[in-house]
Amino acid sequence: MVDRNKIEEAVRLLLEGIGEDVNREGLRETPDRVARMYEEIFRGMDDDAAVHLSKTFAVDSNEIVVEKDITFYSTCEHHLMPFYGKAHIAYLPDGRVVGLSKLARTVEVYARRLQIQEQMTTQIAEAVMAYLKPQGVMVMVEAEHMCMAMRGVSKPGSRTVTMAARGCFRENPALQRYFFEMLRRGSV
Ligand code: ZN
Repeated sequence: MVDRNKIEEAVRLLLEGIGEDVNREGLRETPDRVARMYEEIFRGMDDDAAVHLSKTFAVDSNEIVVEKDITFYSTCEHHLMPFYGKAHIAYLPDGRVVGLSKLARTVEVYARRLQIQEQMTTQIAEAVMAYLKPQGVMVMVEAEHMCMAMRGVSKPGSRTVTMAARGCFRENPALQRYFFEMLRRGSV
């Protein structure tokens, strides 16, 4: 659980640090607002992918499942700035599938905390492997980083793409190609 008082105190210090007057009207409620916002955008820390991915259903045939364009918002742990975009997940079941919303929930678990994109991608793949136990999984994440767009090299619109493959997706290039083909196709 976040400690709202500590966050409020820190935000006041931060505002003073950049030379602001913490008592001016527009900023008076800001520490409280930021604390409540952080509670929301970091609530993945109190959530557990195991809970979402353990509600599985038996299937007769193991056909590939692709859930694409899962919108997420996360926070870069190097700059405390947002990065956001889409996650795409494919898995080949091993007798069991999970409700589609649970894949989106899993993305939320790992997006709503301080992150680096590469690590988030790996964590999603590993959670699906560990709790859903499919034959394999592949995760692709495309995101724009505000710390790249607003500062440093200042390249708005550039996207960072990360990927993680586990199980049969790691071993079988044909499955990977199938995944990319599914992503290229428009909405069905
Ligand atoms: Zn950053």
